[in-house]
Amino acid sequence: MTLTKKPETHPAAASWGLATGKQVPWEYASAPEATDHVTIRPEYGLFIGNEFTASKPKRTFEVINPATEEVLARVARASTADVDRAVKVARGAYSQTWSKLPGSERAKYLYRIARIIQERSREFAVVETLNSGKPIKESRDVDVPLAAAHFFYYAGWADKLDYAFPNRTPRSLGVAAQIIPWNFPLMMLAWKIAPALAAGNTVILKPASTTPLTAYLFADVVRQAELPPGVVNIITGPGEIGMELVRHSDVDKVAFTGSTVVGKMIGRAVAGSHKKLTLELGGKAANIVFDDAPLDQAIEGIINGIYFNQGEVCCAGSRLFVQESVYEPLLDKLKARLSTLRVGDPLDKNTDVGAINSAGQLAKVQELVQSGIDEGAEIFQPECQLPDRGFFFVPTLFTGVSQSHRIAQEEIFGPVLSVLTFRTPDEAIEKANNTPYGLSAGVWTEKGSRIFKMVAAMRAGVVWANTFNRFDPTSPFGGYKESGYGREGGLHGLAAYLRLDA
Ligand code: NDP
Repeated sequence: MTLTKKPETHPAAASWGLATGKQVPWEYASAPEATDHVTIRPEYGLFIGNEFTASKPKRTFEVINPATEEVLARVARASTADVDRAVKVARGAYSQTWSKLPGSERAKYLYRIARIIQERSREFAVVETLNSGKPIKESRDVDVPLAAAHFFYYAGWADKLDYAFPNRTPRSLGVAAQIIPWNFPLMMLAWKIAPALAAGNTVILKPASTTPLTAYLFADVVRQAELPPGVVNIITGPGEIGMELVRHSDVDKVAFTGSTVVGKMIGRAVAGSHKKLTLELGGKAANIVFDDAPLDQAIEGIINGIYFNQGEVCCAGSRLFVQESVYEPLLDKLKARLSTLRVGDPLDKNTDVGAINSAGQLAKVQELVQSGIDEGAEIFQPECQLPDRGFFFVPTLFTGVSQSHRIAQEEIFGPVLSVLTFRTPDEAIEKANNTPYGLSAGVWTEKGSRIFKMVAAMRAGVVWANTFNRFDPTSPFGGYKESGYGREGGLHGLAAYLRLDA
């Protein structure tokens, strides 16, 4: 990308390092994760009824490694007939097997899946990193453990639905159509499949076209766990195949995570039908730092909030609001910390920021960054050598951002932070809520009373206090406004897959 203005860099970028008084750049020996324990097949069929089957007519598309642009595998492109086949198989499994099993039996399968994910965690982490571009330390320490934790958590509820919803008669819905994005492929799969199965439904999952490989690895787990055929089905294909799944008349529940644009289309497609719907869409989270906050701790939270997973996170803290009295010291610390982030090979255990998931997403990030420059914001990027191939972007921050700038309004979904200021708590609340989104937010302050005031006033589904991007299967997650509706995680996430008759 050619920026029309050269970014400012921080002196720390050149001199960060040893206390020798000399200018010594950080030098890390590379520490690549081994890949010899992983087998990626050259081709994957659709996973229907516990079998990998070719699409009819047989068509495939390429899946690439965004860090190298090399082809990893080819996967089946489902047709309308395949969607119908998957729904029929899921319906058969629902009515003949899964809905008839006692909750304690469903729980055994879910526990088994959770344990197999743990046992095969290195394999999952490597495949996730190869396919998505995220750093191995994140897939290893966040994505895979959280996926297993979701299965463990919902396994625990499968035989306790009556206790979970007292004075109700919880009943499964039937067949669930689940469409997931590319930023947390395995974790989103777990968020969708675990509660659906615990509640007694069968599922058809459509992963994003760029990141289907951990879903197909999960298909292996389904077989290993000896789940009855047809309970979990996985089909791949473009967005229009996702829409055919959503529109299928024999689907009872639709769960979607992805862009607000597609979420609205799905909302319209489902309106007026019997289908239950959960939408988890985009975000533009405010991360608010008051002058009494522990600044060093806040810096780590800001960095984690926006540069974790290359900023490709729906709840990323992409708008930083700093109280004016601490703006300068905070910005200085932030630039210094940003300059220490290591960008590069996602398989290297030292890497902090990996590859953007696709060329298309990289182009979107570049376009929005250019708009920030054109609209007059000040760009800062640390000095950093990007790999020659792959879709990489330098972690970036903008100062001098105003509320009307596109970079303060639109979801960038990349490692780009907009820094704004405020003077009073009321001003912070007003600015934070000035967005069509309402997924998440963060508050940094020493005062508990101020945390409660802010949490109550902010229109965000999740508000973190003195931390950011913390996830737990017991805690519901979801949005207000254009960030969608319905909750995933916790009991709320279970209720989304049940009819709760009085
Ligand atoms: P999409 O919303 O297009 O993709 C998410 C999922 O929906 C994918 O499985 C996709 O399939 C599928 N899909 C696409 N079109 C349709 C459709 N018409 N009907 C049903 N399913 C469909 O997101 P993008 O990948 O295009 O990303 C664009 C922007 O969306 C990002 O820049 C980011 O701002 C936002 N986003 C937000 C996410 C979140 O977690 N909230 C996640 C991903 C993106 P396929 O991959 O085959 O197109």
